[in-house]
Amino acid sequence: MADCLFCKIISGDIPSEKVYEDELIYAFRDIEPQAPHHIVIVPKAHIESANDINCENSGFVAAIFEKIPQIAANLGFAQSGYRVVNNCGSDAGQTVKHLHFHLLGGAPGGKMY
Ligand code: AMP
Ligand code: ZN
Repeated sequence: MADCLFCKIISGDIPSEKVYEDELIYAFRDIEPQAPHHIVIVPKAHIESANDINCENSGFVAAIFEKIPQIAANLGFAQSGYRVVNNCGSDAGQTVKHLHFHLLGGAPGGKMY
């Protein structure tokens, strides 16, 4: 997608601080971190939001969740714990219309709900 910020990060057209990459997913540090470690994990396919996950593309989502424990361990917060957040649509405040999961760790996050 030509106009998508995260597609441009995946292609390298916009620089990012990469923490993990494979053929299906890309993970990088959020530019406005909300925790000591704030990682954004995206599929390498342009899926707009969680509303667009289906049986054709859910392998990307599986790949993200399969790698989260390894990313958290590499960054040193797998044992202390972490939060995974997805914002879908305007009520949730999704600002980038490319499916992504926030991985937040490194300090207690407080209760959300
Ligand atoms: P969301 O609000 O759930 O759509 O999340 C989008 C996230 O992308 C926000 O946390 C932003 O801080 C982050 N973000 C925006 N631009 C960049 C960038 N160039 N590099 C890294 N993270 C970014
Ligand atoms: Zn995209």
